[in-house]
Parts: sequence; C-alpha cells; structure tokens
Amino acid sequence: MQFDFSEEQKMWRKTVHNFVATEVKPKAREVDESGEFNWPAVRKMGSLGLLGLLVPEEYGGSNVDAISAAIAIEELGWGCGSTGLAIAAHNGLGCAPIVNFGTSEQKATFLEPVVTGTGRLAALALTEPGAGSDLQGGVTTKAIKSGNEWIINGAKMWITNASIADYIITLVRTDPSRGAHSLSMIIVPVETPGLQIHPPEKKMGLHGSQTNALTYDNIRVPTNYLLGEEGRGLSQTLHTLDGGRISIGALSIGLAQAAFESAVTYSKERKAFGKPIADQQALQWMLADAATELEAARLLVYQAAWLKQEGRSFSKQAAMAKLFASEMAERVARNAIQIHGGYGYSREFDVERIYRDIRLMTIGEGTSEIQRLVIARYVLGNS
Ligand SMILES: Cc1cc2nc3c(=O)[nH]c(=O)nc-3n(C[C@H](O)[C@H](O)[C@H](O)COP(=O)(O)OP(=O)(O)OC[C@H]3O[C@@H](n4cnc5c(N)ncnc54)[C@H](O)[C@@H]3O)c2cc1C
Repeated sequence: MQFDFSEEQKMWRKTVHNFVATEVKPKAREVDESGEFNWPAVRKMGSLGLLGLLVPEEYGGSNVDAISAAIAIEELGWGCGSTGLAIAAHNGLGCAPIVNFGTSEQKATFLEPVVTGTGRLAALALTEPGAGSDLQGGVTTKAIKSGNEWIINGAKMWITNASIADYIITLVRTDPSRGAHSLSMIIVPVETPGLQIHPPEKKMGLHGSQTNALTYDNIRVPTNYLLGEEGRGLSQTLHTLDGGRISIGALSIGLAQAAFESAVTYSKERKAFGKPIADQQALQWMLADAATELEAARLLVYQAAWLKQEGRSFSKQAAMAKLFASEMAERVARNAIQIHGGYGYSREFDVERIYRDIRLMTIGEGTSEIQRLVIARYVLGNS
C-alpha cells in the first residue's frame, strides 16, 4: 500500500499545526493545572473550520474530508490532550449524529450555533453509572412519548463537554420490548428544565476537558427532537463510534508525537557518563521503537479515514486503528518519561501530563477489550 497526503491536506496540516502551536500548546500546562477549558483558543477555532469538521457548509461547517478531520484532531492532540478531546468529542460525537441522521430542520437549529465558535459545543451521552461497554443491555434512561413530547428520566455518566454544550444527544430506551430496536437518540437542549449537570468529575488527566454526570428528572422535549429513527439508536450509536474511533486514534498519535519529540530533545541535551544520553543504545532503541510505532499507527488511522471517505466499510479498520494507536501512545509516553528520568515524573515536564492524558485513550469510545472483540468478530466471520 502506498500512501501520501494530498497537497491540500498537507497545507491544512500546516495551518492547523501553526494555530495549535501558538494558541493551544503554550496553554496546555495551565489548562491542566487550572482545569479551565481553553475557551479563548476554541473561540478562534470556528473561523478555521475546526468546530464543524464534518458539518456541511450550508450549516456553517468546513466539511473537510475524513483524512483532514483526522489530521486536525492529531494536531490538536499534539498541542493539548484536554482541548483535543473536547474538540474530537464535539465533532465526532456531538455533531456527527445530527449530520448523519438529523432532519434539515434539526441541522439548521442545532448545528449552526455550535460550529461558529461564538456559542457553546455539543455532547453525546451514552454511558450510564451502570452501563458503558454494554449499552444494549445496560441503558436504563427511559423516554416515554406523551402527546407531542418525550418525557425522559434517568442518569448518564462521564459525558465530555456536557457543561459547555448547547445540547446533549442522549441515548434512551424508548420501547424495552423491541430488543435490539429498543434504543433511540434524542436531542436534549441543556436549558431543558429537569436536566441537572453535575460538577466536573475529578479525573487522573485531561483536566481541562469538562466531564460531567447528568440527571434527567422528568424532562420534556418535543417529539421532533428524536434523532434519526425510533428504535435505531443502537445502530446509530455504533456508526457514530466507528467514526469516533478514528478520531481517538488520531488524538492518541498527536499526544504520542508530543511525548516523542520531548524525549528526542531531552535525550540530546541531558548528559550522563560524560556524553548525551541519546548516545546510549538502550535509549536509541526506545526512540526507534517509538518512531516505528508512530508510523504504523498513522498508517492504520489514515487508512481507516480513507475508507470512511471512500464510503467503504471501515468498522474493523477503525477498531484496529483505535486499539493500536491508543496502546502505542501509552508505550511511547511511558518510555518518554523513562528517558527523562526523575524529571519525567515532575509536573514541570510535559511528558508527565501527556502520560496521564493518554491513559483515557484505551478506555473512552470503547475500551481496548471491546476493540479486540469487534476485530475478533471480523476475524471469525461473525461480524
Ligand atoms: C474522561 C472520560 C470521558 C468520557 N466521555 C464520554 C462521552 O462523552 N460520552 C459517553 O457516553 N461516554 C463517555 N465516557 C465513558 C466511556 O466511553 C466508558 O467509560 C467506556 O466505554 C467503558 O465503559 P465503563 O466505564 O462502563 O466500563 P465497563 O463497561 O464496566 O467495563 C469495565 C471493564 O470490563 C471490560 N469489559 C466489559 N465488557 C467486556 C467484554 N464483553 N469482554 C471483555 N472485556 C469487557 C472493559 O473493557 C473494562 O476493562 C467517557 C469516559 C471517561 C473516563
């Protein structure tokens, strides 16, 4: 397989990279320490097209190709895990389901305000206190139709962007008797009475990405806020997560690239036994492995993005890309800390933050175990 980016995609990478290098990366430590979302940078992302990567131009988006979308998320991850995750979730989880399954009225109402950078962002609430990997069996948040409204009761957990969103697409059980067709997606504006957004979760990393639990207490939304078809919530979710996995793969690569660059620089500067530690073969092997694995992860992620762009089946490749890139990123960040020695364990050095941020990548949008399950189904012909 021969692969290269088009001239347009290379230009796009340069533009996003320069933006991230000036507006995002210099703030990454501050964002981590304060837990404040980097709104000043995100406000500027609207005009660059970073908030509407998958949204058609008629609704204000930039509608870039799937490879360019992955490039943007990779570059954001290189700059700051928190900001990168928020923008990845906004595009891939909050906007994509409306782009793919929404009516033109829903697109105009909900997408336009969140892609400009003047308003807030978008979120998707699948996970619950008792259900993450097993959404089909575990989701208990219920929606009952009453006249021209849905009444929703339940709770969600770990929802990225919930407290900084305009709306939260919510996976609900609409008809428990319909088995695989018992779940649906409903768009819930955040100001809906009865929706409670709890304080930010105290997390290991990604401190500048807002993550909240939610309670839905008899909330009412119009029936035309149903997204896609009633009973198709599970397949709509799986389709959304396929795209999201390319995004988390790209984010993992960006984070790992940043750790790798720090390790290369540090290894040339730091001296031990009278010479730079980069002269030690043991460290050269770590760097060589990291460079090789980064390259391999890029091929997987951009292959999955290319398949998506071509309109071909990409579920297996997205699962492989997410699995490999996220586990690769952990190894690369781990060794970047090792190369930094004691300084790698210090909050004064970026690799410490990057390592904590990366830890989520093998968990969110389907754990590594779930990716292996998906891949194994293809291998065994049970997909
Ligand atoms: C920072 C953060 C942000 C998040 N953002 C969002 C968001 O925006 N929206 C959202 O809906 N969710 C979000 N999540 C939730 C995330 O997607 C889930 O945590 C994840 O899918 C795993 O679900 P769980 O936590 O319920 O773990 P469980 O499903 O309880 O899994 C626990 C363990 O069991 C393993 N396991 C489960 N089933 C199997 C199986 N069949 N075979 C093998 N192993 C299995 C898992 O791999 C895992 O190791 C976020 C989570 C975090 C931490």
